[in-house]
Amino acid sequence: MNLSQEMLELGSKRSVIRELFEYGKRQAAIVGAENVYDYSIGKPTVPAPECVKEAILSLLETEPSDVLHGYTSAQGDLELRAGLAAYMNASYPCKLHADDFYITCGAAASLAITLKALTAAETDEFIVLAPYFPEYPVFIRNAGARTVVVPPDMGKFEIPFDLLAAALTPNTKGVIINSPNNPTGIVYPDAVLKELAELLRRKSAEFGTAIYLISDEPYREVVYDGITPAYIPAIYENTIVCYSYSKSLSLTGERIGYILVPSHVEEARAVYAAVCGAGRALGYVCAPSLFQKVVLKCLGETADISAYDYNRTLLYDALSEMGYDCVKPGGAFYLFVRALEADAVAFSEKAKAFNLLLVPADDFGCPGYVRISYCVQPDMIRRSLPAFRQLRELYSNEA
Ligand code: PLP
Repeated sequence: MNLSQEMLELGSKRSVIRELFEYGKRQAAIVGAENVYDYSIGKPTVPAPECVKEAILSLLETEPSDVLHGYTSAQGDLELRAGLAAYMNASYPCKLHADDFYITCGAAASLAITLKALTAAETDEFIVLAPYFPEYPVFIRNAGARTVVVPPDMGKFEIPFDLLAAALTPNTKGVIINSPNNPTGIVYPDAVLKELAELLRRKSAEFGTAIYLISDEPYREVVYDGITPAYIPAIYENTIVCYSYSKSLSLTGERIGYILVPSHVEEARAVYAAVCGAGRALGYVCAPSLFQKVVLKCLGETADISAYDYNRTLLYDALSEMGYDCVKPGGAFYLFVRALEADAVAFSEKAKAFNLLLVPADDFGCPGYVRISYCVQPDMIRRSLPAFRQLRELYSNEA
């Protein structure tokens, strides 16, 4: 067939997460929805905060249809970009301007656009740290660059600096980080980020190149135990932030986020112009007008993060007590658990027999682990605990 083989392949196979999610729906029809423990997908269950509804209702009352539902400037409404700059300047150690922001259709768009904007040659490389969000290599390939994977720092899941240092070359265009992290829930402490900044500065100087840090931050506000998320551009000057309201405001389907290119980024104005060009070339046109106005009215608000914190404690404590080896999450809403056999795909298959849907982390570049997405109803967690116990016993009996 005369089609793009690459796109054909990409579109023909569902992600492991989607496969499990679809399996869960089929299984629910057989055994009843209450007997399927679907931990597959990272879709917020906590409702969007009240301010979202209030903003929509008041906008519907006050704004004309062409403003609410029409095109905006390609880079987003000036009002929102100015509001964002003022909000960030009041919240973090920064001096941002409206023109540093480019409004997008969520973090996926932010990443795809940024990677496309930065890629100048097919030899360009972007480094991802395993375990990583499986769409990164897809976006990097589409941008025309190469993905370089740094293997995971098993058990601790912070940054393996020796391996990262070895992966940095004169072809390195950028390093993607994601803290709070999907799938580990790890939040990098300031000391780790400072060490990263020093390494990138040293390597940039050694190679005579700009190495951009692409900070993928859809979980920035989803943090626990009083953690304050770092403002990463204040730690490493060449940071481009890819942000999204999907998780912080529970708006996954509305597709709204932004790219932040602070003025201290190397060649900031050119990078910003290339971001505008990449958004255009990728056909995004503009982000949804209504939700640009909604997020402006909701700056500083979040969904009820404490609900995820409750789930985190419930699941982490129960599974740890049963003998599962879990990474303690400081943020996001995922629990990363060592599979009870080396092959996490086989482990996930066995878990299905107990109607437990756990995502093997092989596609995240981290075999031997599963991801448990705990943005679910706490009642489901409670009902699922006997199944986790039975799964554990299955392996104890085999030993
Ligand atoms: N990056 C990470 C790490 C994610 O987990 C997700 C979504 O789950 C995204 C990016 C994409 O988010 P969005 O819905 O904003 O496109």
